[in-house]
Amino acid sequence: MDLSFILNELGENRSDYFNAIAPPIIQTSNFQVRKVDELRDLFADESSGYLYSRGINPTVDILREKLAALDRAEDALVFNSGAAAIFAAVLANVQADEHIVSVQKPYTWAQRMFDNILPRFNVDTTYVDGTLVENFAEAIRPNTRIIYLESPNSWSYALQDLRAVSELARDHGIITICDNSYCTPIYQRPIEMGIDLALQSATKYIGGHSDTVAGVLSGSSAMIKKIFDSEYLNIGSGIQPFNAWLLIRGLRTLSARLDRISATTPKIVAYLKEHHQVRLNVPFILHIPKAKKIC
Ligand SMILES: *Cc1c(COP(=O)(O)O)cnc(C)c1O
Repeated sequence: MDLSFILNELGENRSDYFNAIAPPIIQTSNFQVRKVDELRDLFADESSGYLYSRGINPTVDILREKLAALDRAEDALVFNSGAAAIFAAVLANVQADEHIVSVQKPYTWAQRMFDNILPRFNVDTTYVDGTLVENFAEAIRPNTRIIYLESPNSWSYALQDLRAVSELARDHGIITICDNSYCTPIYQRPIEMGIDLALQSATKYIGGHSDTVAGVLSGSSAMIKKIFDSEYLNIGSGIQPFNAWLLIRGLRTLSARLDRISATTPKIVAYLKEHHQVRLNVPFILHIPKAKKIC
């Protein structure tokens, strides 16, 4: 699907709302249901129609369709923060007494969940240097359920071989989750490399204007439905319609903003490299490869 079509058209049925180019913000908690039978059906499956905005909402649905298409995923959910998306993705796929393998030094709130919250349910996390696939293989135990990735990593920018790690995980029946906040689907699509759940803090490039906190999870319809029916509805951290609208607006310029960032970043690095008060200790940013868009 054409990138510009996804960002500017997909999911926007303008004839439903006076052919407005900007979609409406359906700022409502409840939706009217006229028949008891219909209400019963909606309670049984909140994804089947509009009932209550902790579940689904038309403005949010426009955003979901675009984000799923960008990730080449079957479906996506949008949360009120990247941290909430991380929490729901992990909680949905681990039980008490199970084990997680994570790339070392993940984003702060992923690490705090692994270190402070999950141990209360006897879920242990082993951290590995993700630059070698063998390190993941060695850390796997019979009760490992999740491999958690972040490529590039938040603090070191270290990469993982997403294709190789997802193959390893599949052989062991392990779910893979990859935080793709730094690349966005414009530069990397984890789902196409076999990852089960692609995750982003939409606060960063998707929003792009420092005015919204949000998070995205993309994956198969079955995986997204499983998370929707349980963690998404129960934690109640789905994005609000106005924030979804801000992200739809942010998406219009996503590609243009990333072009600009790719053009200016090497200049900033070159400036810092020469600055007498700066010591660079991340060897690979000395040679920034030219960023390559994949769509
Ligand atoms: C910011 C960030 C998050 C958390 O997202 P919030 O929207 O701030 O909750 C997760 N992962 C990475 C890589 C981030 O940069």
